[in-house]
Amino acid sequence: MDLLRARAAVAPLRRDLDTATALPSVDALVAVARPEEPMHCLRPAAIAAASAGFVQGFPGRTLYAVKCNPDPAVLRAVWEGGVRHFDCASAAEVALVRSMFPEAGIHFMHPVKARSAIREAWQRHAVQDFVVDTAEELAKVLDETGGDAAQGLGLFVRLALPKGVARYDLSGKFGAEPAEAVALLRAARPLAARLGLHFHVGSQCLDPLAWRRAMHLAGQVIRAAGVPVEVIDVGGGFPVAYPDVTPPPLGAFFAEVEAAFEALDLPGATLWAEPGRALVAGGGSVVVQVQQRRGDTLYVNDGVYGALSDAGAPGFQFPCRLVRPDGAAGAALRGFAFFGPTCDSADRMAGPFWLPEDVREGDWIEIGQLGAYGACLRTAFNGFDRARLVEVRDRPMLGDDTAAALAA
Ligand SMILES: *Cc1c(COP(=O)(O)O)cnc(C)c1O
Repeated sequence: MDLLRARAAVAPLRRDLDTATALPSVDALVAVARPEEPMHCLRPAAIAAASAGFVQGFPGRTLYAVKCNPDPAVLRAVWEGGVRHFDCASAAEVALVRSMFPEAGIHFMHPVKARSAIREAWQRHAVQDFVVDTAEELAKVLDETGGDAAQGLGLFVRLALPKGVARYDLSGKFGAEPAEAVALLRAARPLAARLGLHFHVGSQCLDPLAWRRAMHLAGQVIRAAGVPVEVIDVGGGFPVAYPDVTPPPLGAFFAEVEAAFEALDLPGATLWAEPGRALVAGGGSVVVQVQQRRGDTLYVNDGVYGALSDAGAPGFQFPCRLVRPDGAAGAALRGFAFFGPTCDSADRMAGPFWLPEDVREGDWIEIGQLGAYGACLRTAFNGFDRARLVEVRDRPMLGDDTAAALAA
């Protein structure tokens, strides 16, 4: 199995922009292109609208978490929506953002960094803000930057949170326990032009109170440290809708963050957030083709080693619809499971994916809400890495989450 799973460099998404300018909708594209490889459909307008909604609604600075979709077209759309700051976690992300936006604010928000990545970010790309969650990492950042407050060095302490309710719980991996965070804030204060306390509640977190609880803990740590901080960075984790999940409107999260922040009464401090999923999930979908039907299971040409990783073990449900250019589909719906194209039996997506009950070999299916944690997780496992990327102008399947949520 080790050999089968060996990763090769994944083939780049082939762009098909000429077709896209001529054909504005997914249906029109499928009718003309009849794609036998997965087709990634990007809606830059939806990403720009969601980004603008977040930037305008959040009571502080918005950083886009690049990891959830680093495609240049996505970065341009996020910028178009008014985002000017980026949360990066690797030297490659830093270099990509800097190459596209010389004026962007770039912040290195990974608590365990390669020394070379710190050096490159600081020396070559003018990155000034670094996250730490141990004394060792603080020493590493100081070593590799040689920086101090006079040179604009920003230091952010990542606070560990108790296990929470987010769909992706990240509490086990990073973060300083409160006593350690107190020590790190004190140690970093004299060295930092900007001192921040940073936390991340986990991804797709449906409970606005998670931020209130985290903020409360942050306040206790800051009071115990007895040093002023300039930034509270509340991380990402802001949720989007899926067929089985309707999150509270984003405004409810913003109100909770703002109230909890004001209760801390930290003069001179500002709020930052690092949304990923909330800005870009709605702006991406993937069109797959049915290669075989067995009862209520469809064998399709993308799967958990492709863009549908979250539909596998994490068990996310995604919106989907049949695209059959040559005829009408039946009206009655049925819940299907999918198998992806690789030979691994773990390449299974339980769904249910709700589709017309007469779905058959050769049909196409558009799967929505894949702008985040979709294309970026593709692998070349078993050779199924060929896919194309098109830009389309029709509306996303679940509409524009952010605009809808803010209006709610
Ligand atoms: C992944 C991540 C984010 C973005 O999370 P979303 O759930 O996509 O909003 C933000 N900050 C940190 C530190 C992360 O690891």
